[in-house]
Amino acid sequence: MSEIPLRRNRAQSRVLHRASAAEPAVAVGGEGCWLIDQDGRRYLDASGGAAVSCLGHGDPRVRAAILAQLDRVAFAHTGFFTNEPMERLADLLSEAAPEGFGKVCFVSGGSEAIESALKIARQHAVERGDLARTRVIARRQSYHGNTLGALSATGNVGRRRPFLPWVMGDVVHVAPCHAYRYRLPGESDTGYGARLAAEFERELLIQGPETVLAFLAEPVVGATLGAVPAVEGYFKAIREICTRHGVLLILDEVMCGMGRTGHTFACEADGIAPDIIVMAKGLGAGYQPIGAVLVSDEIARVIETGRLGLTTGHTYMGHPVACAAALAVQEAIRDDGLVARVREMGPVFERLLREGLGDRPYVGDIRGRGFFRGIELVADRESKAPFPAGAGLWKKIKEEAFARGLICYPGGGTVDGLSGDHVLLAPPFIATEEELALAIDRLGAAIDAAL
Ligand code: PLP
Repeated sequence: MSEIPLRRNRAQSRVLHRASAAEPAVAVGGEGCWLIDQDGRRYLDASGGAAVSCLGHGDPRVRAAILAQLDRVAFAHTGFFTNEPMERLADLLSEAAPEGFGKVCFVSGGSEAIESALKIARQHAVERGDLARTRVIARRQSYHGNTLGALSATGNVGRRRPFLPWVMGDVVHVAPCHAYRYRLPGESDTGYGARLAAEFERELLIQGPETVLAFLAEPVVGATLGAVPAVEGYFKAIREICTRHGVLLILDEVMCGMGRTGHTFACEADGIAPDIIVMAKGLGAGYQPIGAVLVSDEIARVIETGRLGLTTGHTYMGHPVACAAALAVQEAIRDDGLVARVREMGPVFERLLREGLGDRPYVGDIRGRGFFRGIELVADRESKAPFPAGAGLWKKIKEEAFARGLICYPGGGTVDGLSGDHVLLAPPFIATEEELALAIDRLGAAIDAAL
């Protein structure tokens, strides 16, 4: 690489950038919770990119595992071969998963994993002769990915709108479980969860349960709402309804899974096991692109003994280097006890957020679990009125934070007119108390400047 720092404005660059800056910063280094640009400026990565970098940057164990795998074999098509890191990673995941999740397939990211989960669910129905089951019930204000199948399941209006002609798939959306916004005055958490579950079952009956393939949901809603867990009892009721009607429960743990909430699988805190768990981001921690679909033994049995063979496939599935990286990440997380650390430090993080931001007039809600926290911003705390739609507050916060050396993940719920702007924080599991406090301090200053 050249000694002179690379500097390109958008006109000079041949890349079709998604970063909005006139001259995007060039990432040249990463150490722990910090990223470093071409001028040596350091950015505290308090969102792990987008809940990706759970192990922090520059872990030598992962580097060594990647290099060692490259010395063996970089790629061997899974239509012909299996490979050692893929086998070992599958062992590690199925041992960590709820009982009865013995099989897993690997792809290259979250959207691919959601697509694969939906196809595996459909294939399960087809193999059983349950051909009428095609419909997916998902939730409004959800995000399940960028590819067209995953976008069809996505409930976020803004992300779907430009592609509507292509995302009108067989998907019905029901309400998310978002107590801060939608629990009725005087309603208890239990009552709210039970009401939503009843609404879900009513929709199921309207659609005809024999036509419904799966219910798809994020246990803790990430990008669209900002770390919103369900109220206690909601997922237990959903699980029971799905089982009773033969509908598969698919949990999208792409963002909230792999330890981020203080449990390896976020659904552990909800006390349920789904039929399919979808993972990505934290699985490879950004060292390599990878996603995974864990399926119940029953689904695996139907597919493995069926006529079709596994019908979902991508060229890079089970990529040896990606699996080697993810295996090293997960072993490092296990060896360093990082999931337990997130569980212990989660309340500390929450306390720091409440102390640092809780009294500000624009903070409506602070929520989440473990190292997965959301702050909802409101124009009026009493009425919970959001800031005006289209004002782009979240974009300004992102820019102001970046200018202060902070990477956070703000989002604008107001595009739906249904909820407020929010900021998502998802720091690496190794973040110290001082780093958490610094992130909150910089975030407060960024929001003040953006308003
Ligand atoms: N599902 C959830 C819950 C996500 O947050 C995301 C990405 O943000 C995806 C799926 C899509 O993952 P990817 O961007 O890796 O395709």
